[in-house]
Amino acid sequence: MNLNDKITSLAKTFGAADIGFSDVEGLNDYGYKYAVSIFVRLLDGVVDEITDKPTYEYYSHYKSVNTLINDLTLRVATLIEDSGYKALTVSSSQSVGEREEYRGMFPHKTAATRSGRGYIGKSGLFVHDDFGPRLRIGTVLTNAPLIVGIPKTESECGECNLCVRNCSASAQTGKNWYAGMERNDLYDPRACSEFMKNYFSHIGNGFVCGICMQVCPKGKKNKRL
Ligand code: SF4
Ligand code: SF4
Repeated sequence: MNLNDKITSLAKTFGAADIGFSDVEGLNDYGYKYAVSIFVRLLDGVVDEITDKPTYEYYSHYKSVNTLINDLTLRVATLIEDSGYKALTVSSSQSVGEREEYRGMFPHKTAATRSGRGYIGKSGLFVHDDFGPRLRIGTVLTNAPLIVGIPKTESECGECNLCVRNCSASAQTGKNWYAGMERNDLYDPRACSEFMKNYFSHIGNGFVCGICMQVCPKGKKNKRL
């Protein structure tokens, strides 16, 4: 079994929905060439309860999934180091707020799109090929020589505009993403964050909303009925 397969097997055993491998040379401040993206699915039963506001259960679930991702990144990083290489964990919750108003040490979405497992939607969320935006991501940076995917470089949203129409904060510009696009050309994280703080502080301390995730048809195509 090669290292890619060992990582995939380990992460899936402990709850990951999917794993991506990417070349991120020159795209991080730590000198690593490779990244492992760990995707954990959000439950359809929880996401479907989001309407024009988040739910208490969604906030709790959001935190639980972050905890699981941090556990998985640690397990994967340990496996990589036990195999003779170096690994740096980038936890799911290292950014502040659901929409990463404040940038973290490394953008999960960069590794995730470069792994070829999905693209960035008009919502500004990563849209996975199988689970749409109904997931959260952790990343492990490493010098282990991994077999990498083919990066996605363009949005697959097409003419869909549902997340833009349903965002009361008017946080999205409605443009289609392409690799290298400035984040603010796609959406305004400050508008999103201010809206959540103003309207949902009583539910999830103003850290979650989830409306643009819930409405996305890409997240509904394979959902559990
Ligand atoms: S999380 Fe809510 S406020 Fe933020 S962009 Fe999505 S719909 Fe708009
Ligand atoms: S709701 Fe539509 S436009 Fe928004 S991310 Fe999903 S597919 Fe793209």
